[in-house]
Amino acid sequence: MRTIAILGRPNVGKSTLFNRLVGKKLALVDDTPGVTRDRKEGFQHYGGRRLRFIDTAGLEEAAPTTLAGRMTASSEAAIREADIAIFVVDARAGLTPTDRGFAEWLRRASIPVLLVANKAEGKGGATAALEAYELGLGEPIPVSAEHGEGVTHLIGVILDTL
Ligand code: GDP
Ligand code: MG
Repeated sequence: MRTIAILGRPNVGKSTLFNRLVGKKLALVDDTPGVTRDRKEGFQHYGGRRLRFIDTAGLEEAAPTTLAGRMTASSEAAIREADIAIFVVDARAGLTPTDRGFAEWLRRASIPVLLVANKAEGKGGATAALEAYELGLGEPIPVSAEHGEGVTHLIGVILDTL
């Protein structure tokens, strides 16, 4: 079975995407950054394969001052277990220094990283997602986890990458 880890800074919509991919309300979604305290995992069949998804706590519990400090044990452990990482950024908020630092770390990851620009719903969403090209992680995949837009395409990319 293949494992997909969902990573990124707080509040970008990791848990919303996880729930969308797994099809159940397993992860707690909240407006308060850092609400996913523990990692959650869930399973779903796509393309005839059973996939495991890991929703990480993200970076919220770490000291914000150093790059190393921003990488929580949760993110590192998830990546060690995963075959693919999904790195989520917020297309509405734009890139932050934390996103850039995290991307720098992920560019050295030993597994494929899919860059997802979430909150890209509606007019202008796909255009807003283009900023994420700067991160050097390939073509950003625009999605709206909340509205379900782009998620089928993302699943296709996951299956093609596995
Ligand atoms: P996490 O901290 O990365 O796990 O983020 P959450 O999944 O908890 O979501 C953080 C906030 O972003 C919540 O208020 C969600 O409702 C909101 N959100 C998640 N996905 C989307 C989306 O596709 N579009 C918009 N506009 N908001 C979203
Ligand atoms: Mg969360």
